[in-house]
Amino acid sequence: IAQRSAPLREQQVSTADGTRISVLANIALAVEAQSVFAHGADGVGLFRTEMLFCERSEAPDEEEQYQAYSGVLRCAAGKKITIRTLDIGGDKPCSFLDLPAEENPFLGYRAVRMYPQFHDIFTTQARALLRASAVGPLNIMVPMVATLAEIQWLHGQFQHIAQTLLQENIPVGEWHLGIMVEVPSTLYLLEKAANYLDFVSIGSNDLAQYFLACDRGNPYVRHLYDYRNPTFLALMRDITQRAQAAGLAISLCGEMAADRQMLPLLIGMGLTQLSMAAGAITPCKEALTSLNVGQCQQLLETAIGCESGEQVLEYVEQFIRSQS
Ligand code: PEP
Ligand code: MG
Repeated sequence: IAQRSAPLREQQVSTADGTRISVLANIALAVEAQSVFAHGADGVGLFRTEMLFCERSEAPDEEEQYQAYSGVLRCAAGKKITIRTLDIGGDKPCSFLDLPAEENPFLGYRAVRMYPQFHDIFTTQARALLRASAVGPLNIMVPMVATLAEIQWLHGQFQHIAQTLLQENIPVGEWHLGIMVEVPSTLYLLEKAANYLDFVSIGSNDLAQYFLACDRGNPYVRHLYDYRNPTFLALMRDITQRAQAAGLAISLCGEMAADRQMLPLLIGMGLTQLSMAAGAITPCKEALTSLNVGQCQQLLETAIGCESGEQVLEYVEQFIRSQS
């Protein structure tokens, strides 16, 4: 009797020429973890923690957060889990913080920029995360980082908080610190950042917004907000190459990762970890198995040489047709 292999959903996948690709899930609630593994996720590449904090009169305490984070790690049974620290401000309001009204909220007081002032909230989340790492290996990821000073501050804070927990006889397991690459300045920080960080993840939603200088939610500039723009593809290629040269693990967790047409370009960049909405995981795994990395690299170079995003799309569609 011929042995039937497990459905693709349950397998780790490789490209046709043997490069292993991790297909991870983006989640916003701890309870989603179970179902994303059922969808075939090789792990969680982005757990947005804002929902835990939204629409309530005060921030969740350390215990509540610990329960949420450790629950995800327990479900993961050793699979890679990346939890992102609070990303409020900009498009993500917070009901219990009295934040100033700003003319340019996307360029203002957001995420990591608020941690020194709202230090209790930051420390409570950091303690809950570090405690959860005792359940399974944890990647802790910080959004909206723009400078080396922020990275050094974060590194110092997490070291100090981990030390404090150990002094309190509270176990801390394996944890790694990383940042989202969503502010273009980070391209030129990667080498120095590698002294403090283990990994980075490209947040293409915000990276495109800040690189192309157009508000991601503004319909008047929607035609400019385009991750297929050849200059944006060149930026992503350079980020990936520099991160790898610096010894930093790199993934992508923006919506672009779920776009079937972008997949050959992402593989051409050298990305091997892609994080996306659960529903995109199986189609992505299917598409990956027919790709060849060398051909994807050539396609990427052609795309970067194009004059517009529309032209990129024409080449990509032609490429995908030639694969089937
Ligand atoms: C991003 O910016 O690409 C990202 C994944 O983060 P968010 O969409 O939550 O800002
Ligand atoms: Mg973002």
